[in-house]
Amino acid sequence: MLSSLKDVVKKIARSSSVDKKLVEEIVRDVQRALIKADVNVRQVKEISDAIKKRALSEEVLSGLNPREHIIKIVYEEILRGVGEGFDIPLKKSKIMLVGLQGSGKTTTAAKIAKYFKDKGMKAAVIAGDTHRPAAYEQLKQLAEQAGLGFFGKKEEKDAVKIVKEGLEALKDYDVIVIDTAGRHALEEELIEEMKRIAEVSKPDYKFLVLDASIGQLASKQAEAFNEAVGIDAIVITKFDGTAKGGGALSAARLIGIPIAFIGTGEKIEDFEKFDPAGFVSRLLG
Ligand code: GDP
Repeated sequence: MLSSLKDVVKKIARSSSVDKKLVEEIVRDVQRALIKADVNVRQVKEISDAIKKRALSEEVLSGLNPREHIIKIVYEEILRGVGEGFDIPLKKSKIMLVGLQGSGKTTTAAKIAKYFKDKGMKAAVIAGDTHRPAAYEQLKQLAEQAGLGFFGKKEEKDAVKIVKEGLEALKDYDVIVIDTAGRHALEEELIEEMKRIAEVSKPDYKFLVLDASIGQLASKQAEAFNEAVGIDAIVITKFDGTAKGGGALSAARLIGIPIAFIGTGEKIEDFEKFDPAGFVSRLLG
């Protein structure tokens, strides 16, 4: 059995001719590989239907042999399925992060701020996660390491108050990333707090932080957070793990929200802008 899309491509390249039987086989292999990568079944069907339709109906482009033509279609349709990334403008902005506890929010807050700092902007973070006791120290340390502005109050439990004061204290900064509390589930209390933080901070962007390894659970989480506070883009963390990230991808596609960044490790520099073509390579690999 083929284990990855890379094998599918090899199989096409090896085949002596391209006929309906081969196309059907390829479509089945693509489906299997995408499902293995945790892509949602509905999305797998959309992608594979599109490949089949084009492979059986389109004329082979001049300059390509029939095998190259099919490989091109497979690649293009998966790329279409992945969708476009989120191009965050390099301008003065406030970014609020939301997500469940352990998803990687605090780490990601520093990573995003550093992304802007590396582009020559003045960037800072606000420690708005008052639920997880270690979050304050963690963010403070990351901010010091990366030379970011920081605001937090260790003993204060009122996150809304911290955010309000933080925005005032950091008003000379170009980009402010607000870390917020997560819970193990999206509870009423957490929703209320997120809403109040959004009200006082009026963020330009709300990013949902999703752990790549949660697979199919990602869709439910993304939908729930989007309903609760409205999400502008998704950051997928722990891409360095074994998960191929298909679950998080499907979640993003399902609710029609683009992916902005990916986290590829625990260190602050392990962070990249989401690149759809790179993601396809990962799904293919
Ligand atoms: P929070 O509870 O959402 O604030 O999550 P944290 O930022 O504390 O992250 C939870 C754990 O995941 C920590 O051990 C982080 O070092 C780790 N982590 C965060 N992002 C990544 C990532 O992209 N890759 C890996 N391998 N670990 C990550």
